[in-house]
Amino acid sequence: MSFCLPEIFLDANATTPVLPEISHIIEAVCCSRYGNPSSPHLAALASKDILSQSRDYAQALFNAKQGEFIFNSGATEGINTAIFSVLAAQVGKDCSQQVLLYGATEHKAVPEALRHWNQALNLNAKLVAIPVDSEGQLDLVFIQDALPQALMICTMGANNETGVIADLVALNRVIRSHNRRVPWLIDSVQVLGKLSLDLTSIDADYATFSAHKLYGPKGVGALYVHKSASYLPITVGGGQESGRRGGTENVAGIAALGKIFHWLLQRDNDVSNDCPFLPTATLQHYRDDLLSALRTVFPNLVLNQPYPDSLPTTVNFSVPGFSSAQLISLFDAAGIRVSAGSACSTGRPRSYVLDAMGLPAWQSEGAIRMSFGPATSSVFIESVQQRLLELAKRIQSEPNTKLGLLAPQPTQSNFCVYAQTCNNRSELFIFGDSEGYSEWLHQQFPESTWRYDTRTELETDEFVIRTLAEGLEITSRKTQRQVIIPPHGLTIDEQQLDRVRILDFDDLNSEKDRLLDVREWLESRAQPVIEPFSEQSAELPRASWLEWLLHAPQAEVQQRYITICRSGGRSRLIAALSAQLGGPELISARLGVTHLVQKLMRTG
Ligand code: PLP
Repeated sequence: MSFCLPEIFLDANATTPVLPEISHIIEAVCCSRYGNPSSPHLAALASKDILSQSRDYAQALFNAKQGEFIFNSGATEGINTAIFSVLAAQVGKDCSQQVLLYGATEHKAVPEALRHWNQALNLNAKLVAIPVDSEGQLDLVFIQDALPQALMICTMGANNETGVIADLVALNRVIRSHNRRVPWLIDSVQVLGKLSLDLTSIDADYATFSAHKLYGPKGVGALYVHKSASYLPITVGGGQESGRRGGTENVAGIAALGKIFHWLLQRDNDVSNDCPFLPTATLQHYRDDLLSALRTVFPNLVLNQPYPDSLPTTVNFSVPGFSSAQLISLFDAAGIRVSAGSACSTGRPRSYVLDAMGLPAWQSEGAIRMSFGPATSSVFIESVQQRLLELAKRIQSEPNTKLGLLAPQPTQSNFCVYAQTCNNRSELFIFGDSEGYSEWLHQQFPESTWRYDTRTELETDEFVIRTLAEGLEITSRKTQRQVIIPPHGLTIDEQQLDRVRILDFDDLNSEKDRLLDVREWLESRAQPVIEPFSEQSAELPRASWLEWLLHAPQAEVQQRYITICRSGGRSRLIAALSAQLGGPELISARLGVTHLVQKLMRTG
């Protein structure tokens, strides 16, 4: 069985592919105009021309009459350079009463660079995150009050996770009316190509840009520096960029960036041209189409952004009952690449941006960002809609499937029970520990001590369950009736085995795998077909079973099927999908076990 869905990339806020025209320019520069701009001969002139033309385009595009552009490796470098320039000018002064202001939803490069340079230069200024409201907008009163003590203020033009567009005009007014000279950095990465930015009407000191967010190559960008702003190079050497950034220029990358600026200039000036970037109104339509297709899959999705005040290319949403990881798996299975919030230190993915906006934890833990670039097409958007509609149909057509994960008592040690029933009939139960599952339990109940030993006991009000070498021993407290379930399997109706498909999602051939004996046990029954999901199923962790679910012919779906999973993540996904289908989301520990055991008692 192979599933080769064409990939649909909806993660343009993270990066974009290089457009063919851009890659031709890069190739032409690398192969034909490869002179070092610092050389003394004519070949250098051609390269110098490229640099000055790209700079002119940038100057014109952003109406940057008061400053200039320095080409660099991208926004992270630009952010560091701007912050270093400002803070280095304070070395030796007592900054302990001063603050470094940054928006609470900034890209991590900003607070990290502030922290780093503040520490490295021994300034002892205080880092202060400017709070945002539930719509992601900065608190202007907070800024106003903090500005008199501010050494610097860093804000962003548009947020990379939520697409929230900052009100730069209002910010400009507040900042300049309360502190005319405070250095102001605008991280403009997500603005490029999606919004216009006039650096004459907005009195910023620095602005950062990155080519790979708009169909250029990675590793090239530009930093705008106002003529009155401090500047101290981080790298020095051959005097490149007028001595402001040492190191031979990335001429091909700068040519690519120049082409992007040129296209945008043409678009803004309505010059008829081959500019691939669509106007905002068209992008907005496309985003509406995407959202309505998404709602067919998840009618109850909740937006995590102020929809009209966010980038026309970004949708950020959560679905009750689903974590980000589960949704990413689901979309991955459908061949759609999306992203979530940032990973936090506890290892549980959540979004610090949504946390800062005060959204409920479930929204933050379940956030999904879908983003496309401005050089999109109606054909692409239609293919996304089509894929989403297929996904919706597939999920909705699942015949009365109940998939459940039965969890043990959280305070007991780790004895795990997996059970899955289809069409309301339970077919096979697999018992045993699973590292993935234990890991999940670990996260759910970090206060408990977990031992990864399957020979443990579980006691509920009604049953005592012990894991023995011979299997799982279940004793009813009331009747003292006892059953022993052989390891990893029981109650399968052997008459029905030919109708049962066993899908091996985790490559049970793997030597280390603890479920190896499950496979052997099943194989000894000869009839069930054990289908390795793929030769490299170990490398195809999340997507596999959902892909099957999405693409199996209807006849197969009607069959009862059993999944063998090693990972708790997959099982949780099953449980979450079950919730979406109207099945039990996650049967609680004791109830689940009790329920299962009662069933076993009846059949056993
Ligand atoms: N700022 C924002 C808002 C971003 O989205 C990114 C990219 O993820 C960066 C800064 C860093 O850009 P670069 O990859 O060019 O260093």
